[in-house]
Amino acid sequence: MRNVVIIGSGPAGYTAAIYTARANLNPLLIEGLEVGGQLSITTMVDNFPGFPEGIMGPALMEDMKKQAERFGTEYLPGMVTQVDLSHNPFRVFTDDGETQTRTVIISSGASARLLGLESEKKLIGYGVSTCATCDGYFFRGKEILVVGGGDSAIEEATFLTKYASKVTLVHRRNQLRASKIMQDRAFKNPKIDFVWDTVVEEIYDINAKTVKGVKLRNLKSNEVTDFKCEGVFVAIGHVPNTQIFRGLLEMDANGYIVTHDGTKTSVPGVFAAGDVQDHVYRQAISAAGTGCMAGMDAERYLEQQGH
Ligand code: NAP
Repeated sequence: MRNVVIIGSGPAGYTAAIYTARANLNPLLIEGLEVGGQLSITTMVDNFPGFPEGIMGPALMEDMKKQAERFGTEYLPGMVTQVDLSHNPFRVFTDDGETQTRTVIISSGASARLLGLESEKKLIGYGVSTCATCDGYFFRGKEILVVGGGDSAIEEATFLTKYASKVTLVHRRNQLRASKIMQDRAFKNPKIDFVWDTVVEEIYDINAKTVKGVKLRNLKSNEVTDFKCEGVFVAIGHVPNTQIFRGLLEMDANGYIVTHDGTKTSVPGVFAAGDVQDHVYRQAISAAGTGCMAGMDAERYLEQQGH
């Protein structure tokens, strides 16, 4: 029987582990397939406080992992395949078997939706990004392309005009999905150009390990053109990793877990932290902050239950 099982190894999960391990709760953290979460596939992180020179994403996550380990966190590699939250103790299943636990902290994160191009995968962190807040600063004075037509794409494009010499937004239809007010602001921004009815089919240049341009296809005329740019921001939405909790916990229309009074979910003893419950801020530091809250909430819950 465990006191705490933490699902997910991003900043939220590791921070929850540091807090619950230091409270002598001997947490088990189930790491998932992408150990370290979204930061493990980024390069320089410049906005995590405490690193005046910045730190590489994978190094930051490795340090968080070590820090949680120092206080007794145990790690289990692999994915959670199923959970039973119908009564306490809860049951958490992985390919290796079953773990029973008094509390669960869900920090399984969200994944940026990607275009699915091989070149996109290879150039992520090398000119391709899914987070303008994180990476915009690296594109000062450069020409950038943003893909998408929703609020995220417009928000990112607008934000990026602070740094970029020019931002071109490429959308697969001729109408934006984004809210009217954000659209209007973007249309008025002289630094943003729009390319309609168009998809990105290739990002150049894998061999140079840097972005030099893209291949675009107009879906109406089928015309293919090359377009020069130095950065590509893919902003076509995020998907919270909540499939296994569907029907078990309250979620919003987009599948994000609903939390209240800190990190409590609709099931007492189950807490959620990080991007799995936050589609607004999505930052490593805000995920770590809610991870800390979830750790403390779990500790209080256990105390109240007399454990
Ligand atoms: P979204 O609303 O789902 O929009 C995704 C956009 O990407 C759509 O325009 C979609 O095109 C396009 N897209 C999807 N898959 C694509 C593909 N494979 N290739 C090319 N384009 C593709 O996602 P979001 O913009 O991330 O917003 C998610 C939620 O968060 C929304 O509820 C949004 O309102 C909210 N949000 C709010 C704010 C804010 O208020 N400040 C900021 C960010 C997000 P189609 O239009 O053709 O489907």
